[in-house]
Amino acid sequence: MKKFNNPIYVTKPLLADLGDINKKLKQIWDAAWLTNNGRQHQSLEEELKKLLKVPYLSLYNNGTIALIAALKCLHLAGEVITTPFTFPATVHSLTLCGLTPVFCDIDQETMNLDANKLEELITSKTSGILGVHVFGSPCDVHKIQTIANHFNLKVIYDAAHAFNLEIDGVGIGTFGDVSMFSFHATKLFHTIEGGALTFNSKVLKEDSDLIKNFGIKNENEVVLPGFNGKMNELQAAIGLVNLEYLADERAKRQQIIDTYKSYLQDVKGIKYYNLSPNIKPSLQYFVIRINAEEFGKTRDQVYQALRDCNVFARKYFFPLCSNYPCYQKYSSASKAKLPVANKVVSEVLSLPLYGDLKISEVEQICDILIGLSKNRS
Ligand SMILES: *Cc1c(COP(=O)(O)O)cnc(C)c1O
Repeated sequence: MKKFNNPIYVTKPLLADLGDINKKLKQIWDAAWLTNNGRQHQSLEEELKKLLKVPYLSLYNNGTIALIAALKCLHLAGEVITTPFTFPATVHSLTLCGLTPVFCDIDQETMNLDANKLEELITSKTSGILGVHVFGSPCDVHKIQTIANHFNLKVIYDAAHAFNLEIDGVGIGTFGDVSMFSFHATKLFHTIEGGALTFNSKVLKEDSDLIKNFGIKNENEVVLPGFNGKMNELQAAIGLVNLEYLADERAKRQQIIDTYKSYLQDVKGIKYYNLSPNIKPSLQYFVIRINAEEFGKTRDQVYQALRDCNVFARKYFFPLCSNYPCYQKYSSASKAKLPVANKVVSEVLSLPLYGDLKISEVEQICDILIGLSKNRS
């Protein structure tokens, strides 16, 4: 097994040309307008609306604050059903808003909350469903909406992994009442820190714009309790520059994913989820699942062996949110009620994926994986 001389991390932020960024900075300096819905902010909002194919979009200083704003705008109360298999921010946003998370087990293949198990979790206290399009595989949006309509529940999506994702040409941000996108530096499209909410409703967009600006409507009126969730002009400028690199970054990532798949498709004990052809992928992550019995090594052994070769894969999303000490107290968090999630979380491994990763490096990573497998030929 060939060890890498330099560490290979799971991702590397997209770094645009400094000359391009400086041109934008000059515009900001000339305008002497650094935040509060300036020109860069306005253009980024317009560009993203087109790109994500959504009617309304509101930019934020990060995805987590955006998600908290979404929960406030929808006036959720009581219980919200969500997935335990996600980044901490999803569930923390609920509890920070005084809501009780109710964990729903996940689907074995998509790793998203299992829409077939939703109904049995709905009580008189349920006010919403918070789904996550984990690793860019879309939730069962149609089924979730049908259930939500029937029980009069709001639907929010954490679409942090779903930038550019489309189902049959329809932007993922149009499903449910609100979707949240994250533009953190580790995401394919980023504004260093940043995020957005998308809506179909103009009223929600207006509420969102108020809540992220202290509830200030105009010089004479403050109409609701808000906070500071605004994206500044420098963040928006970085976003506008990064948009110019998007097509190229996506093409490179697609090639990397194709390479991984071609090398790993016949390795016994390794599998990955294939999106159906009607879905435009987000290309945010490439995640494999390791079946220890078939592969001959556990996920943790593979993780360690890769580290020994200077490859820093990640066990996303280990540990499960339902197993955090702060959430174990909820009855829905018990391991017996979440058998699939507890199994999947011991199998997943997120492999390095970023445009600058060379195909030869991808091949070397695959060689290491194949070398670890018990059935190597
Ligand atoms: C990145 C991420 C977030 C948080 O977004 P920030 O912009 O970093 O606040 C939330 N949920 C998921 C699933 C994420 O991957």
